[in-house]
Amino acid sequence: MPKKNKTKYIFVTGGVISSLGKGIASACIGKILEWNGYKTAIMKCDPYINVDPGTMNPYQHGEVYVTDDGTETDLDLGHYYRYTLSPLTKESNITTGKIYRTVIEKERRGDFLGGTVQVIPHITNEIKNGIRLISKKHKVDIIIVEIGGTVGDIEGLPFLEAIRQMKNEEGFQNAINIHLTLIPYIKAAGELKTKPTQHSVGKLREIGIQPEILMVRTEKSLAESEKEKIALFCNVYKDCVIEARDVEDIYEIPLRFKKDKLDRIILSALNLKFKEKLNSSKWEKIVETRKNAKSIVRIGVIGKYITLQDAYKSIDESLKHASIANNVKLELIKIEADTLENKNDAALHETFKGIQGILVPGGFGSRGTLGKIIAAKYARENNIPYFGICLGMQIAAIEFARNVCGLKNADSTEFNKKTKYPVISLLTEQKKIKDMGGTMRLGEYECVLKQNTRAANAYAKKNITERHRHRYEFNSKFIKQFEEKGLIISGIHPKGSLVEIIELKNHPWFLACQFHPEFKSKPDNVHPLFRDFIKSAKHV
Ligand code: GLN
Repeated sequence: MPKKNKTKYIFVTGGVISSLGKGIASACIGKILEWNGYKTAIMKCDPYINVDPGTMNPYQHGEVYVTDDGTETDLDLGHYYRYTLSPLTKESNITTGKIYRTVIEKERRGDFLGGTVQVIPHITNEIKNGIRLISKKHKVDIIIVEIGGTVGDIEGLPFLEAIRQMKNEEGFQNAINIHLTLIPYIKAAGELKTKPTQHSVGKLREIGIQPEILMVRTEKSLAESEKEKIALFCNVYKDCVIEARDVEDIYEIPLRFKKDKLDRIILSALNLKFKEKLNSSKWEKIVETRKNAKSIVRIGVIGKYITLQDAYKSIDESLKHASIANNVKLELIKIEADTLENKNDAALHETFKGIQGILVPGGFGSRGTLGKIIAAKYARENNIPYFGICLGMQIAAIEFARNVCGLKNADSTEFNKKTKYPVISLLTEQKKIKDMGGTMRLGEYECVLKQNTRAANAYAKKNITERHRHRYEFNSKFIKQFEEKGLIISGIHPKGSLVEIIELKNHPWFLACQFHPEFKSKPDNVHPLFRDFIKSAKHV
């Protein structure tokens, strides 16, 4: 018999190929469950051996998302944040590396009393502990567990085995499996092909997992007969074959899911009540505004990993939110920083023609920094709104030092250890650190805003908290010199007086922050700095 008031589990796996949007699908499932009144937590299991993605190159992994508690996590947690109210803490992302580390620590302590330590049961038990920890830490009704990778990957097997075991242990109607696959359209045959999905579900069944719900990504609509075929071969009810058609706007997806009654299907499978009428009007308005906005705002993002779509995911999304708030259509122009380095003035003008706002995001290492400095200078001199984030703030400071304060070759000690003017230098607490993983200044820190500044006006309050991920800081020795030349320090971390926000006088909107505001923006709750950046860009 199903137990009352028990946390329910939804396991989301992916098949056929990667990059099907499992993270967004999980987040959107969370959203429709919230519309039904359920408190939901979403977590991600990543089968790779890194303890966390913090030390990975963005080309390998895309953006590293940071939570309030300072955990460096998979970028899917950013999707969870943007769509839902899911708690996001260090428990929300587990990896093979994290699991093995814990098991090996236990083994070294002697916790296994001389037993042989094995994948089953020791690793699978630790995975199950990790998943169940969420319900111990947070009071939620439903936990959505996204399993990274694709069914068939060797490294994903322990995770699949763990969720297979968990479904039995949790009991009837307390845990379900949703499998996301692809139905490719073969142009030459003019047909949608269901075979890869059949194979993927077959592979899951070999492990002992029978999904209740199949979500199939497709570019063309599925005919009833195709749904029937999938249902027959994959052993699921026809109503439980949900078509996940490509959409232009990812924020439309929860509304599609609602239309397809996915919430009812999930909630009935979990023996939970659903609402007859969902109140999604606020979300509908967001999608409508995006669709109907007429005037365009062009924003240039000057980055180092521009070719990789996911490298600046949260920034791209925050710019979208800000455009919704300002009722404009966003045109994102991504510029590889080092391409600016050898351009003369005319060529630079050509590159920035029509660009109404320049954003320099975070980054590490010296490649591309000169190009970013050139972009910051261009924005400052040509009165184009500038938004610097983390490295983007350090770049703004270096540019100001070199070209306004006359400090020749001023630099960050990250790029030039021997610079005569180290306007950006290593944080004191970083000096003794040797390990690279999880040792930056990470997570939420307080910041006090100076009255009558752009920052204070944007937030409309004095004390804020924002999330950080950096090792270097604005060198306070230079504050006086900078202020004399018209730079405003508008945000300070109260303990240790670290400079968190800088602005320029006599410029339409030039603001740069040491923290990452992009981690805290939602389509229905836009971050104030992004909102004001787009607002000023709109008038260029
Ligand atoms: N590399 C810089 C630092 O470590 C900036 C980091 C970032 O942009 N996230 O301080």
